[in-house]
Amino acid sequence: MSLQLHNSLTGKKEPFQPQDASNVTLYVCGPTVYNYIHIGNGRSATVYDLMFRTLNALYPKVTYARNFTDVDDKINAAAAEQGVEISVITDKYIAAYDEDMANLGNLEPTIVPKATEHISEIITTIETLIERGHAYASDGHVLFAVDSLADYGKLSKRNTDDMIAGARVEVASYKKNPMDFVLWKPSTDDLPGWASPWGRGRPGWHIECTAMIQKHLGDTIDIHGGGTDLLFPHHENELAQGVCCSDHSGGYAKYWVHNAMLDIEGEKMSKSLGNFIVLRDLLAEQPHELVRLALLTAHYRSNMNWSEQLLHQSRSLLDRLYTIKRDGADLPAAPAKPITELPFFDMLLDDLNTPKAFAVLHELTNRFFKSDSDDEKAATQAEIFTICEFLNILNLDAQEWFQGTSSADAISAEEVEALIADRVAAKKNKDFALADTIRDQLAERGVQIKDTREGTQWTREG
Ligand SMILES: [Zn+2]
Repeated sequence: MSLQLHNSLTGKKEPFQPQDASNVTLYVCGPTVYNYIHIGNGRSATVYDLMFRTLNALYPKVTYARNFTDVDDKINAAAAEQGVEISVITDKYIAAYDEDMANLGNLEPTIVPKATEHISEIITTIETLIERGHAYASDGHVLFAVDSLADYGKLSKRNTDDMIAGARVEVASYKKNPMDFVLWKPSTDDLPGWASPWGRGRPGWHIECTAMIQKHLGDTIDIHGGGTDLLFPHHENELAQGVCCSDHSGGYAKYWVHNAMLDIEGEKMSKSLGNFIVLRDLLAEQPHELVRLALLTAHYRSNMNWSEQLLHQSRSLLDRLYTIKRDGADLPAAPAKPITELPFFDMLLDDLNTPKAFAVLHELTNRFFKSDSDDEKAATQAEIFTICEFLNILNLDAQEWFQGTSSADAISAEEVEALIADRVAAKKNKDFALADTIRDQLAERGVQIKDTREGTQWTREG
């Protein structure tokens, strides 16, 4: 089985064929660093971390670049408000982002370019676009001429009439066509700026990705990733710039991959609804592996619903995995197969189908608890450990996990009731091993249960 990826450019799931299997290239648009990131950003980063790990398992070398947008009008506004240089803002939020990524268990990309460190490459790319007739200077600005590219809109599947009607198109005197977008804009003295052939100014947002991709990854990359919110205008404009500044026949990116958004308890996350979750607040409250696992459970192309129920289910799976780690400590050693030979991985090859992959992992935990044979338990445990190592979870000692989750914040009554309901269901399904595991989990967390004719009663210890 080979890797299949859904390509937004063609709208189809396609077999992944890198240009050069000895060096696969992946680029993902990173954050604009002017505040802490929210949980939806955390989801996107974790999805691409899983893609990076999957590619790393399949190919000898993967070059993964993710940028920092460290010059932007929102950053300028934050710096002006606090009366500091933009670097004070961007350094702070880059450090916070790196810390959040480490806490989520995401690998460092191979290259982490910053826009402000690529101003000369950006200027060169803009000059090339002007020379080739795809951009023009006007009143201190440089604009990309969308009329110069016949199939502009092909990635986001929009035609220019729809775009003018639907998008926030800025009608400005210096534009030939209202859809033309900014590559370079002038800076007043109070704003950050760099010398350029068009006067002191700063880059527009879209051009940095194209310039940094050309510099670090080449004219055509294998996979370009980002959230669906970036499809238009950012990715459409990146694509336009990329194909117009190079003669490379492979295009700008072979596969465009887009992750869907994240809702909170069935509602769109927004500051006005009061349901906005800052990732570092969540990581301060919850075990990091729990957040990581929960963020991976939905298929990346589906909207994810972040909910108490999701956290409960993810905690329950981690409790089972840590129970296996603890109870299986004395099992005989079993040979471990590489991740690429496991059914779990086959599910990931199918466009990173994590729901199916996690179903396989659940099945393995069931097999472990049901088995009476030490050899079967040992083989199952070895497979589970390989999967968990690949996912970068199950890194704590079992005792640390169970103590950490019970003493840091005592188990809530709702959680106890939910676990008891799971246990009742397990008994009904004659899954007595699971029922016993849940009883043990509750005991670990200081809850004793008693089955009576009226149902299950429970008490807290101490
Ligand atoms: Zn980008």
